Amino acid sequence: MRLHLCTWPQVEAYLARSNAVVLPIGSTEQHGPTGLIGTDALCAEAIARGVGERLEAMVAPTLPVGMAQHHMAFPGSMTLKPSTLLALLEDCLLSLARHGFARVLVVNGHGGNAATLSAAFAETQMVLDGWSPRPDFRTRLVNWWELAGIDRLSAELYGDAVGSHATPPEVAVTWSLFPETADARVLKPRIAARAPFHSAADFRARFPDGRIGSDPSLAKPEHGARLLAAAVDEIAEIGRAFFSAP
Ligand SMILES: [Zn+2]
Repeated sequence: MRLHLCTWPQVEAYLARSNAVVLPIGSTEQHGPTGLIGTDALCAEAIARGVGERLEAMVAPTLPVGMAQHHMAFPGSMTLKPSTLLALLEDCLLSLARHGFARVLVVNGHGGNAATLSAAFAETQMVLDGWSPRPDFRTRLVNWWELAGIDRLSAELYGDAVGSHATPPEVAVTWSLFPETADARVLKPRIAARAPFHSAADFRARFPDGRIGSDPSLAKPEHGARLLAAAVDEIAEIGRAFFSAP
């Protein structure tokens, strides 16, 4: 059940039986020379839709742009300042709370969003407490790439070539969704460098093709389908417990 494909009477009827909503958030940023700019949003959306179907839960529209400051030296990347993202998240969470949604499961596709998401949860709770206390309101963040099952499957499929950006698991998920975009050419070096980074220019200097520690040429659309199914299974269990908890 997708919020943007419902009418308001359908949402009202849903709220009479459930206060649960799944909110996908991604990012619009470079993912190496062979990965799609929309990778993080595409992954989060596909997983959130799967979880929504499994649990018959409402799925909010995907927030497609996140905090991607460190990718801005690559064409096509878009970013929100952390303060803008915080304001956007707070307004979206308050809007959902206003209607009676009280269990918001955020499926996040991008590491750069995680800190601001946690800040937005605190900010929203504070505003709700200040205006009209909502002790029933709960938020929960799931970074899909950190799930135990995804970790296991990624290690099994890709060994030490997972890395931390433009990773074969996330690239495989997008290629399973859009097989016509698959580009498995081997990159040089095969496994990209790893290092700490600072500004956007520093990122590009250290990682000239945009990857960090990964070999996305190992990705296959069929891996993506397995990873997607594993993520949906695990997050659906998290969501089931979260939505039914007092
Ligand atoms: Zn990504």
